[in-house]
Amino acid sequence: MKSLRARLFISFTALLAAALMMFGVIVWLVAREAMTNDMDDFLRGKAMLLARLMPAERLRVEPWMEQDLQVQERQFGVQVFDVHGTPGGKSSTLTIEVPLTDKVRRSEHPAGGVILETLVIGGKNYRIATHPRRDRWGEPVVMYAQAVISFDALQARQARLLAWLVSCGTAMLAAGAAASWYLSRQWLRSVASLEEAARGISSSELGLRRLFVPSDDAELAALANAFNHLLDRLEAAYKTQQRFTADASHELRTPLTVLRGEIEVALRRPRSAEEYREVLVSNKEEIERLSRLTENMLALAHVDVGDAITQRELVNVSELCAGVTARLQNLAVERQITLHHEDTTAEPLSVNADRIAVERVMTNLVENAVRYSPGGESVTVRICKSPPWIAIQVIDTGGGIAPEHLPHLFERFYRVDKARSRANGGSGLGLSIVKALVEAHGGGVSVTSEVGHGSTFTVRLPAA
Ligand code: ADP
Repeated sequence: MKSLRARLFISFTALLAAALMMFGVIVWLVAREAMTNDMDDFLRGKAMLLARLMPAERLRVEPWMEQDLQVQERQFGVQVFDVHGTPGGKSSTLTIEVPLTDKVRRSEHPAGGVILETLVIGGKNYRIATHPRRDRWGEPVVMYAQAVISFDALQARQARLLAWLVSCGTAMLAAGAAASWYLSRQWLRSVASLEEAARGISSSELGLRRLFVPSDDAELAALANAFNHLLDRLEAAYKTQQRFTADASHELRTPLTVLRGEIEVALRRPRSAEEYREVLVSNKEEIERLSRLTENMLALAHVDVGDAITQRELVNVSELCAGVTARLQNLAVERQITLHHEDTTAEPLSVNADRIAVERVMTNLVENAVRYSPGGESVTVRICKSPPWIAIQVIDTGGGIAPEHLPHLFERFYRVDKARSRANGGSGLGLSIVKALVEAHGGGVSVTSEVGHGSTFTVRLPAA
């Protein structure tokens, strides 16, 4: 695994090297071209000046001419030829024999012009400019004036330029690489400090500590904020979990304490068969409560891990609700409640859902309505279409729920009246199971209630 810093460093340095290389090559090509042109202009000028200085009748390069032409300072040589191409005289700086080529002799430029050539003499390259002098336009050539320079000087200048380019480029690359190494550490230092801070937060400090959000770095601020939001959610989940564990242990302990108490009292002295029977009946009730509780906890655990919905199918909601009301009819009669089912449309209303889960939702809601309504009241299950939903309402005319309880009703283990709910066999998990199952189907559940008038629970499921 390569570090981000190494990757940043390598990419930046490679880019910089490529850019410098490209720049260097361009500078080198342009400068080389300019240097060659400069040299040609220089030679051309010197050849023409020599021709002008030279008297036609005496072809000798005098010392004053050498001075005028600056042959010593500029390290080049000059030479003159007569009209037949016989060498006349040359400067003291010219130690080689430079011939007059056919190309020059054949030149027919009416004003003379300058012929530029590169010749190899004695194994070395020379640049030569030759000016055939004509005294008037189109008249015959009277002499040839020549300026000669070795390529050594040009090559030395070019080598110096190349050395400069390479050393400057290398220095810039080294400086750039060092800067990128340093800057990448600066940039990543904030990430490292963020990591260190995150590492330092233990689970017991979830509710206390949050990461510092830097104000001068948008990306890091976003990262820190995202992390803090994650911590918020984690804290909420952690607290819910803690509360759930505490509530669950408490709920489990109560029936166990009752069971133990009853058994201990029964065992204190010998009892009649009838008395033992009574104790066993009571024990059975507590055990049933325990079973219901564990079953509900298991159901919630299934929703939590996401496997509450095992199999989706097309479920006819009217049929399903009619089934649930029919099954709970006995309980309703027992509690003197009129329970009925109402369809608002004739067409079959279907949802794509897990049948067992929807049955559980309806059973919990209808059972609650029947259990928490006093005798003589009525409970109605009404199904209606409200696109894109199918709404199922469980309406009771019972005692209703005070407004301060409504926001907490769907929380785990929340009960309005603990004693009464427990007497009814409730554990406070029924509505949280309803909510979890409905939400797992992509739906929602809500409640409206008025004390003294009754409550309406509405489940919305996406219509199939
Ligand atoms: P429980 O297992 O105690 O019934 P629920 O989660 O099903 O738990 O219900 C939570 C609380 O909401 C109950 O304790 C009860 O006080 C109240 N409740 C639920 N349904 C109704 C209703 N139809 N009318 C009045 N109170 C209700």
